[in-house]
Amino acid sequence: MSYKINNKDFGSIEEFVMQGRGCATTTPNHYQIRRNDNKIARVRSSGNRGSGAIIPVKFIHIKDGELGEISESQRIQQIEVLNEAYSSFGLTFTYDPSSVVNIDNAEWYRMDHGSWAERDAKRALHSNPRNILNFYTAGLSEGLLGWATFPWELDGDPERDGVVMLAETLPGGNATNFNLGKTAVHEVGHWLGLWHTFQGGCDAYGDHVGDTSAHQAPNYGKPERGERHNACSSETNDAPIHNYMNYVDDQWMDEFTSGQVGRIYDHLTIYRQEFLS
Ligand SMILES: [Zn+2]
Repeated sequence: MSYKINNKDFGSIEEFVMQGRGCATTTPNHYQIRRNDNKIARVRSSGNRGSGAIIPVKFIHIKDGELGEISESQRIQQIEVLNEAYSSFGLTFTYDPSSVVNIDNAEWYRMDHGSWAERDAKRALHSNPRNILNFYTAGLSEGLLGWATFPWELDGDPERDGVVMLAETLPGGNATNFNLGKTAVHEVGHWLGLWHTFQGGCDAYGDHVGDTSAHQAPNYGKPERGERHNACSSETNDAPIHNYMNYVDDQWMDEFTSGQVGRIYDHLTIYRQEFLS
């Protein structure tokens, strides 16, 4: 099966991810992890953790001529996919069509994670990240599906806050197997402070979520149910092959655990209180 992203053919999803990394969200460092864990402990002991949130989304479409065009129908479907994933946990995403930004800039369109193009584009186009989720779409550097900033980065670098999505991953886009809008669910998961379920493999600190089994590495494609796959030997449960924070195809992603939802609300309470309802 061929995986076509950004008009380039990859022989397999593994080849695509090897070449392009897929999600470029960076791994938090040990200092950030320790600091965040301490804050979470305080929120939990205080008993003041939030339990509902409304998150307005501002779509910012960076285009190169006709490339990167996103339709109103795609925006509406993307919001629906986000709400399907999150609303049962009390998180609602809203969208105001009058807030949409379209801009033509070939350099920004090909932005890479951490590049000057990303910095310049966000500086020019972002809205107050305390009141809105800045949701950028672009063509991105080769092989990338998207990336996000973490909530603990907001204070130090507010203009960079938000998610960046390969335009073709929005519902109805051309990113085969990644065009149901689940990349946005995954990246928004990072924006809410979740890590990959395979974070650290079997040896390190994991994703700090008690009910996602540690597993050695990402899962790809459409792994079958009823097998352990690459779950670590210390785990009694199978690898979380349907979790949004894994790397499986869009069609296969449909799960957050209660432990992940708890951490989302820890982070909203600590870093993004303005969204709490
Ligand atoms: Zn990711």
